[in-house]
Amino acid sequence: MHTLSEALRLVMERAAPLPPADRELIGALGLVLAEDVEADRDAPPFDKSLVDGYAVRAGDLQGEERWLRVSEEITAGRLPTRALGPREAAAIMTGAPLPEGADAVVMVERCRRGDDRVFIEPQPIASGMNRLTRGREWKAGEVVLRRGERLGPAHLGLLASVGRSGVLAVPAPRVAIVPTGDELVEPGQVPGPGQIRNSNAVTLHALAVEAGAKAEVSPIAPDDPDRLRAILARGLEANVLLITGGVSAGTRDLVPAALERLGALKVFHKVRLKPGKPLWFGVGPARGEGTGALVFGLPGNPVSVVVGFLLFVRPALDVLAGRPPRRSEVVSRPLGQPFTQRGDRITYHPACWTDPDRRAVVPLDGAGSADLRTLARADGFAIFPAGDRVYEEGEVVEFLPLR
Ligand code: AMP
Ligand code: MG
Repeated sequence: MHTLSEALRLVMERAAPLPPADRELIGALGLVLAEDVEADRDAPPFDKSLVDGYAVRAGDLQGEERWLRVSEEITAGRLPTRALGPREAAAIMTGAPLPEGADAVVMVERCRRGDDRVFIEPQPIASGMNRLTRGREWKAGEVVLRRGERLGPAHLGLLASVGRSGVLAVPAPRVAIVPTGDELVEPGQVPGPGQIRNSNAVTLHALAVEAGAKAEVSPIAPDDPDRLRAILARGLEANVLLITGGVSAGTRDLVPAALERLGALKVFHKVRLKPGKPLWFGVGPARGEGTGALVFGLPGNPVSVVVGFLLFVRPALDVLAGRPPRRSEVVSRPLGQPFTQRGDRITYHPACWTDPDRRAVVPLDGAGSADLRTLARADGFAIFPAGDRVYEEGEVVEFLPLR
């Protein structure tokens, strides 16, 4: 059985960024840019006014005389019709181009308009005031974004400003989620005797979406070799296949055999980890040019599903998406109460912050690896190394936050 770090290394060895593809800007949030992007023109494309007011020649307003003749009105989207002569001012709107000859703009609040004249209140007026010169933001041909940048809202706006409606980016990984087990019914159904509701699919879907993936949930796969295989075959077309249940040691744990019959290669089965020991990891058959799906057979227990996702699936998804892997961002905190650790597996135990400043953590009493209610209260997982030991209050442990 592999240790957690060996198993994680084996997963990461098989994860590689997906080939870049053209993506529309709408929908590209969070993707990693796969090209350097140049500006197609200067920004701003002309000397523009930063305020509503009057475009002036600063030199005209260094003396006592404050009245200027109004030459025209320049609204946003329109061009000046003539150059500004001596002792002239042009009414101008924010974003509109300055007329030739003007080198400053006085904001309208500091001016008083007469019929065809304007009075400029006494104030220091420097050349360049309230003017954004052409090319000040960027110049035509300048690289405004480099490959490797993660696209946030401002990046997307910047791409639109330089004339792009789409970009070359690493696509979001496609994740297929397959819940398995004869005992499962969908959440909207009333479970019969011996049945439980399929909660894992919706949990995994949410985890995958939170990790920036595109996730699709399949119908529940029954514990029947042929029907299971048919559903898994479809799942293998995704970049990542997440299966829950059917990987433990029961006679109906049919997932590993089904995967191997479909041509998936096992990399490991079982990790020295609690909860989540029976995790199966492998790689689906190669498709055309592309590599096969990364396949994670997660044990069915709802808490194991979350732990397995955070420890293995999320860092793999990061790599597929071209991002640095968030190898579980762990922090160190003192325990707010003692904890007794037993067993030879590293343990991820649901725990809460003690206070809003997150100064310490308390492990939660719960009903084990099926206890979603405790997990819903948890802020993350306190991590206890393998080996029987009592951890005292105040002892520092590692903590994996959920958010
Ligand atoms: P298994 O790994 O198939 O042995 O399942 C382990 C436990 O997880 C069993 O108690 C299952 O009923 C439960 N389980 C399996 N799949 C799901 C699921 N999709 N949603 C909630 N619980 C599940
Ligand atoms: Mg099962």
